[in-house]
Amino acid sequence: MKTLCKFFSAVLITVFASSSYAQPEPSAIELIKIEDDLYVIHNPAVPGNVTVLLTDEGVIMVDNKFAWDYDNMMDMLATITDQPVKYVINTHYHGDHSGGNERAQADGTVVVASENARLKMVDANQGGQPDVTLDEHAFVHLGGKVAEIFRFGRSHTDGDVVVYFPEHRVLATGDMFTYGDDVPQLIDYAGGGSARAWTRTLDQALMLDFGTVVPGHGPVTNKAEMENFRDVTVQIRRMTREMIAAGSSRDEIAEMLRNEFHWAELHLDRGLDGLIVEVQ
Ligand SMILES: [Zn+2]
Repeated sequence: MKTLCKFFSAVLITVFASSSYAQPEPSAIELIKIEDDLYVIHNPAVPGNVTVLLTDEGVIMVDNKFAWDYDNMMDMLATITDQPVKYVINTHYHGDHSGGNERAQADGTVVVASENARLKMVDANQGGQPDVTLDEHAFVHLGGKVAEIFRFGRSHTDGDVVVYFPEHRVLATGDMFTYGDDVPQLIDYAGGGSARAWTRTLDQALMLDFGTVVPGHGPVTNKAEMENFRDVTVQIRRMTREMIAAGSSRDEIAEMLRNEFHWAELHLDRGLDGLIVEVQ
């Protein structure tokens, strides 16, 4: 596990510092069919999952991986539809979910995100900033179908949205929910994330009526696993708080987060100090 964590952390660093690295090879991707008109373009660990809703008038896409995954991803999409991508919804500002925006916009795709996510992209001078933004709730209608967008509150960042497909009872969560030991909860405090708010935000998302879940990273799963993840967000805060009360050091808390919750260096780097401040 340690080696995997190290590997994952090294890969994830490119999520936050992609511009300073040479362009990596596109990740190996696979197509997962949820229903005849709803698919996931999946890869191991990073970048994030992409969900596509197919209609007779175009495609609604959720997230679009890194910029260097764009051609690969679009080639795969072309095997299931000849329609253009009309809308891409970024679940948040990180480059492994919004890196395809510039290419998408050049192809005529409208980029949709929360206004908070857009502000982060502006701050970071990211290319492909959103064309349309929302505060809390929006509907995207296309070809008689709908994708519903909700921003419930802070979690992984302060601009995360979930995308709900009511006809399919499917929820694409972005990194508000990640599934698997190699993709633990990442609290991006610099991006407005919050351990405390995260549980509340998940509680609101869990009130929607859905069965299948496309996590930000990890395999397609179900609502019960998302509920488990919600409980883990509580355990992380409780165990950290107890250790602070018992006088444990920062290093001891870091060790606990590594051992119990699979946090890698990146998760500690981004989340540990903010977590300690927040739970006290
Ligand atoms: Zn992220």
